[in-house]
Amino acid sequence: MTRSIERRPTLAAVTESGLPASSPPSRGRKVLLSVDDDPGVSRSVARDLRRRYGAEYRIVRAESGPQALEALREMKLRGDDVAVLLADYRMPGMNGLEFLEQAMDLYPVARRVLLTAYADTDAAIQAINIVDLDHYLLKPWDPPEEKLYPVLDEQLAAWRATDHRALPEIKVIGHRWSRRTSEVREFLARNQVAYHWLPSDSGDGMRLLVAAELTTPDTPVDPALLPVVVTPDGEVLPAPTDAQVAQRVGLETRPATDFYDLIVVGAGPAGLGAAVYGASEGLRTILVESSAAGGQAGQSSRIENYLGFPDGVSGAQLTDRARRQAAKFGAEFVTTRQVDALEINGSARTVRFVDGDRLSGHAVILATGVSYRQLEAPGLSELTGRGVYYGSAMTEAPNCRDQDVYIVGGANSAGQAAVYFSRYARRVHLLVRGASLEASMSHYLVEQIAGIDRIVVHTGTEVMGASGDGHLEHLTLRVRSNDPDGGQEIREEIVPASHLFVFIGAAPRTDWLDGVVTRDPRGFVVAGPDLTVDGSAPVGWPADRVPYHLETSVPGVFVAGDARAESAKRVASAVGEGAMAVMLVHRYLEGLE
Ligand SMILES: Cc1cc2nc3c(=O)[nH]c(=O)nc-3n(C[C@H](O)[C@H](O)[C@H](O)COP(=O)(O)OP(=O)(O)OC[C@H]3O[C@@H](n4cnc5c(N)ncnc54)[C@H](O)[C@@H]3O)c2cc1C
Repeated sequence: MTRSIERRPTLAAVTESGLPASSPPSRGRKVLLSVDDDPGVSRSVARDLRRRYGAEYRIVRAESGPQALEALREMKLRGDDVAVLLADYRMPGMNGLEFLEQAMDLYPVARRVLLTAYADTDAAIQAINIVDLDHYLLKPWDPPEEKLYPVLDEQLAAWRATDHRALPEIKVIGHRWSRRTSEVREFLARNQVAYHWLPSDSGDGMRLLVAAELTTPDTPVDPALLPVVVTPDGEVLPAPTDAQVAQRVGLETRPATDFYDLIVVGAGPAGLGAAVYGASEGLRTILVESSAAGGQAGQSSRIENYLGFPDGVSGAQLTDRARRQAAKFGAEFVTTRQVDALEINGSARTVRFVDGDRLSGHAVILATGVSYRQLEAPGLSELTGRGVYYGSAMTEAPNCRDQDVYIVGGANSAGQAAVYFSRYARRVHLLVRGASLEASMSHYLVEQIAGIDRIVVHTGTEVMGASGDGHLEHLTLRVRSNDPDGGQEIREEIVPASHLFVFIGAAPRTDWLDGVVTRDPRGFVVAGPDLTVDGSAPVGWPADRVPYHLETSVPGVFVAGDARAESAKRVASAVGEGAMAVMLVHRYLEGLE
């Protein structure tokens, strides 16, 4: 049966307080939604909201979580934007946090506010990070002028600042198993740009491709044109580069000027940390990123050990906050700009982009992190992006529903991915080469995995090959096991598989620095005391002091985070090194005066 928005009765159950009951809801309006199971409180919240915000926003109220979710789904279909979700904590059936968690899937950038009675405060605080809550408000809030409106004004200002990235109309049309399609989807998702994906062989996908005159109804589209991105104003981009997509969706790709106090290369936790501290301390700071902010941490479904987030925080949430924080202090951020050379021009430090453009500054912080090692086995490289993925590729999660998913790796990143995909997949097989997880994974994660029935850990197991017609269909595994006589049995198994996620260690992204700064044999950048010889400056060091702690073999060029030799490979230490590098940049700049 066709779903008709107008005929469905559910919105009638939700009073649209900003409109007369008979008005058809106008398309594309901005909404404030509140949900409270107590009809009296619900009405009074709506009344307070309407009084202050009714002219600009449509006020929608619901009396249960499921009812509010139904209303959100309809608003999503209509193209409405939801700015703030206000949910009561204690509600029968579905509590406020459960509601907000599901609402995030529909409106990820809507601000989330939880209303709690005094007695609920402890529980609410404990759960704050489950939904990355933006605020919790104690009831009652009288007078609203003092207790409710200032909070909402602040939330609305924050929402408006991210609003342009919440455009629902960007469409990506591509093949389900195309490597480039999954890259573009991942790029948009990691830059927090909402998009609508349409498989190129679906009716809607075909209709759009025909409308764009890229094919006719009876002809399959030329795969070389895919994916096709359609922007909100109808511009059609066949097989676009990341930079073309970035420009069209409002991401900055060009620096505003050609000289800065500080250039930070790489926008993972170390680079974001450096940008926040650099800009907040008055340095004209630019952050340059080849892909999307967040780095490896941006791919993490839940970081459990970052200070200040007792219930964990997703990499996407942490990245979004850090990026906004850096922007608030005035740091510039350009994306899809890969740096491929570092030049020393007198006291200026110059980075060169792949397209030949250059950018100079007084100091540079290298925060280029690491990337996953490729798994070497027949068939894997051909199927990368077509069922084989490096890192989490979280956009794939819904496609894993009711499937068996394979994850390779024994470290925390693989463990987190197993926990994340277990929410979607029928079964998650964690393939570990070693004899146990304990040696390589944090204890808390080993315990978490042990408590999830859907995750099966296969120790002594390696991937020997992959095959499939256009996408991954089978994996060949080699399994080592001990037999009762103390010997070892080795057998090969071929298993059906549609998804393989690989997390097998990392290599530093520093090849472009070869011959410019000192690197260790594995390519990590050596800095500070690791450069000195018996406490003295290394040969060729041009200054009359030893290198500062995070300074590389080139004065004024610093390194922070995973790219540094002997670094801790943790979010907190990367952020800390970013901040510390800025302090050392100040010291370096003082020496120049
Ligand atoms: C899935 C996963 C889960 C994790 N979970 C945890 C956890 O729970 N707790 C924890 O403490 N740690 C965790 N880690 C490790 C943590 O994410 C890293 O230690 C941290 O991200 C390192 O930060 P970084 O800024 O040094 O480097 P990265 O995060 O690697 O960021 C480097 C950035 O630089 C960019 N870049 C690289 N080269 C260039 C170039 N030439 N030009 C421009 N830009 C460039 C990259 O695109 C990238 O965005 C996890 C890692 C992964 C992959």
